[in-house]
Amino acid sequence: MSVTGIAFDDTFTLGARLLRAGQSDEALEAFRIVYIKAEADKNIGLMAACLNEMAWSSYRMGDAEQGIEYAMAAKWRWRSVDNAAEQARALAIEAILFLDLGFSDEAYTSAHAAVELAQSTEFESVQAFALNAKGIVLAVCHEAQMGIDLLEHAIKIAARQRNIAAQAYYLLNLGFCHAKLAEELIAQSQPEGAADESRIATEMSALAVDLAERVGDQWTLRTALSNSAELLATQGRHCLALELLERFSGLAVLPGTGLRIHFLYTLSDVLLRSGQVDKAYSTASEALALAEHCQLIDHQVNAAIKLVEILEKLGDTRAAFAMHRRYHALYVRQSGDTARRRARIEEIRSETDRLRDYASALADQILCDPLTGIANRRSFDQILSRLAGSPIAIAMVDLDLFKAINDQFSHIVGDSVLQRVAKIMVSQIGPHGHVARLGGEEFTLIFPDAAEASAAAFCEGVRIAIASTDWSDLGEGLSVTVSIGLAVGRGEVPSGLLLQMADRRLYMAKAAGRDRVVSQDAPVLVRDSAETRKLSIA
Ligand code: GH3
Ligand code: MG
Ligand code: MG
Repeated sequence: MSVTGIAFDDTFTLGARLLRAGQSDEALEAFRIVYIKAEADKNIGLMAACLNEMAWSSYRMGDAEQGIEYAMAAKWRWRSVDNAAEQARALAIEAILFLDLGFSDEAYTSAHAAVELAQSTEFESVQAFALNAKGIVLAVCHEAQMGIDLLEHAIKIAARQRNIAAQAYYLLNLGFCHAKLAEELIAQSQPEGAADESRIATEMSALAVDLAERVGDQWTLRTALSNSAELLATQGRHCLALELLERFSGLAVLPGTGLRIHFLYTLSDVLLRSGQVDKAYSTASEALALAEHCQLIDHQVNAAIKLVEILEKLGDTRAAFAMHRRYHALYVRQSGDTARRRARIEEIRSETDRLRDYASALADQILCDPLTGIANRRSFDQILSRLAGSPIAIAMVDLDLFKAINDQFSHIVGDSVLQRVAKIMVSQIGPHGHVARLGGEEFTLIFPDAAEASAAAFCEGVRIAIASTDWSDLGEGLSVTVSIGLAVGRGEVPSGLLLQMADRRLYMAKAAGRDRVVSQDAPVLVRDSAETRKLSIA
């Protein structure tokens, strides 16, 4: 599903193909293999891409709890590499998974954030996916009409991009929203409006079936078939509903357990409505047994309550009562399970937040000078390579007679001087350039695109600001000055050479008596009468 420029390997492509073919377990395994390789290669982008797909595979397998863990990890990995589009996709997947777990508040928060973030990017396919997620969440939160609007928008985008698989999936969800609107209208005693919505929902699901079949998306196809059957049954069109369910079971690839159980209790529902109560009973019993075997508590609850209804229809009051007790016990366990899930999600969330903070602190440490908080040598190198080939000015700044300051006022005062010098330079340069500490009492200024005259003026501004600062709070009689060497290139001179030129001119400034800026290789007049050294040009 990725669109934003990550290079994938063959196994990843295989995973995507398996996912589409409905083999979600195998797909998950393929993405896991790529993830392990990407981790060894420290390829964060590919790791994050795998996590997105692992989350989505888990969703399609019916394992939302595992999926959430992957989606959250994907989210912060994408953030760490500044990829807003893929981060938005991870958020949208997270929203859908939250919904699957029954946490609609969390789902709404994630879906809303996904849409906002997606819309800050140029990637329309991600925007559509996020709108789709928010649409489903709204429908579940009894705002079906709003959900419909968002899904129609998503479908338009997918159609414009000729992405049939996306259209099929969004149509499936649009059908779901119309079905939800039908439920809302029934609750508001508007049966006619509800009937209309139910009909539209069936049409949308049928369209989803056609498109999903065309692109071979087994999961969407199965879900759409099962949704259509459910809708047709509520409309009293039992034969058609049973036909669709037959088509469902006739599909070559076996569905995941979640889909299979859903199919079974949809089938039992249709059978019950069409008067085939015995068959409905055996089908619902099969669903309950399978859910029990796979320890899927939500499905067990749903199947048990269906069985209560069927047993009542059969007139077996004793069995219905026993099943009701079983249902009640399951319900209590489900509530406990929900609390446990919520706790687990909180745990994952704080874990990922902590990892994220840790990662960004590490990144800061790698690029920041700990004493002054400004850019360090590594970050300076990065800035230079980013600006390679474009006109820049580089200044080397060195504190004058700093050793004497340390000796006279102590190292601690020396450190404070370095901190304050850094602060003064940052405020003098503002957004016009970068300030970095190369080490010791040596700093550098980089002016991207700066003309020689303005770079020289900034350097002179820095020199004057430092010289005219009142330093007496750090030490009685303390004064601080700097010498600066400046070199300007139009993009043709390699930055290494510019640095050498700036360094040479710094030396000239020192030789000429310090507290000055030298921006040319011409001889500099000795200004300080106390300075005895004669100027020598390198
Ligand atoms: P010049 O004007 O020729 O540059 O003279 P200088 O004394 O500044 O030059 P020199 O390179 O001889 O001395 C630099 C001193 O900076 C030596 C070292 O003790 C001090 N220094 C380097 N790093 C730090 C630091 O992190 N904190 C403090 N307080 N001093 C440092
Ligand atoms: Mg020095
Ligand atoms: Mg010095």
